[in-house]
Amino acid sequence: MTARSLLAALLLLSACQPGPGGEERRTRFIMGTLVEIHLPAGQPRGHDDAVNLAFGEMARLEEMMSPHRPDSLLSLINQNAGGPFTPAPAEFIEVVRRGLGWGKLTKGTFRLSLGPVVALWHFEDPEPGPPPAGKTLTRALDLVDDAAIEIRDGQIRLGKAGMKLDLGAIGKGYAVDRALAVLAGAGVKNALVNAGGDLAVLGRPAAGKAWRVGLQHPRKPESLIAAFDAEDIAVATSGDYQRYYIHGGVRYHHILDPVTGMPSMGLTSATIVTANTADADALATAVFVLGRKKGLELIESLENVEGMVVDASGAVAFSTGFRRLPGFEFMGL
Ligand code: ADP
Ligand code: MG
Repeated sequence: MTARSLLAALLLLSACQPGPGGEERRTRFIMGTLVEIHLPAGQPRGHDDAVNLAFGEMARLEEMMSPHRPDSLLSLINQNAGGPFTPAPAEFIEVVRRGLGWGKLTKGTFRLSLGPVVALWHFEDPEPGPPPAGKTLTRALDLVDDAAIEIRDGQIRLGKAGMKLDLGAIGKGYAVDRALAVLAGAGVKNALVNAGGDLAVLGRPAAGKAWRVGLQHPRKPESLIAAFDAEDIAVATSGDYQRYYIHGGVRYHHILDPVTGMPSMGLTSATIVTANTADADALATAVFVLGRKKGLELIESLENVEGMVVDASGAVAFSTGFRRLPGFEFMGL
């Protein structure tokens, strides 16, 4: 059975008292997850339209980047693999460029060209069945090649027939950043956008307070491991509990090791805190695959990036700066 935790990977601790004029939490199902826009009391006039615009922006990006919609730009690019270039808007190309950059920096643990392998796993099916056979996986892995993703003035092309672009590990983060930008552009000063644990904040929930973010325990959804105050920051978590199924007593989840094509073992969750959600999203996936030691080394090597990892034995480790996040609190496991 495919399980998708509707509980956000990060539970927001109630940080503000509902005031007159009303604190609001609005939700919509976008990109396979329940997206929440949380607005504290005291919003400007017209904030309702702003929220609709923000959700609309995320839905627009889903239409563009979804591998499940035959008419999405992503599907068109994939259909044209090995054939002609496909025109793509600047924002799409920006996401691809950023993803390719993280792929290079993480030595191939993050792969935008992993589509053929992702497609074999059928995580969207209610009954996905047994994992793909070795030979099928090997054939799909042969098509994984980020270097064969070609970009030239407003166009994109996958070099080999059968190649498939997959933006699943970065697109949601990018959409959160865009939603926040739309809210800010419409005059909203204080808000939080949370797409199943990939989140970003604007302003504060009340004067003198900060948005409080709690990191969920990978095995006990009701418990928090740690919490901190979020100011002008984005957070993303990749976990083996977010999208998975059990077959023959084995847990198969959706974060794949591009070397083997199999779910990456070692960590149960990886959280990244950084300036924007697109990078946090991509890095959380990459660090999940890199594992505890190499993942933390990568985080330490990057400016303004902090992270937390939980390994399969249940041990928690933080990057050095994580404990210095404002209001940091470690509850333990
Ligand atoms: P979530 O969608 O739960 O936030 P992630 O951000 O980790 O989780 O993204 C997982 C998705 O990214 C998968 O469903 C798949 O589409 C894609 N993916 C899986 N493994 C990788 C990888 N190693 N590199 C790039 N994309 C991946
Ligand atoms: Mg990700």
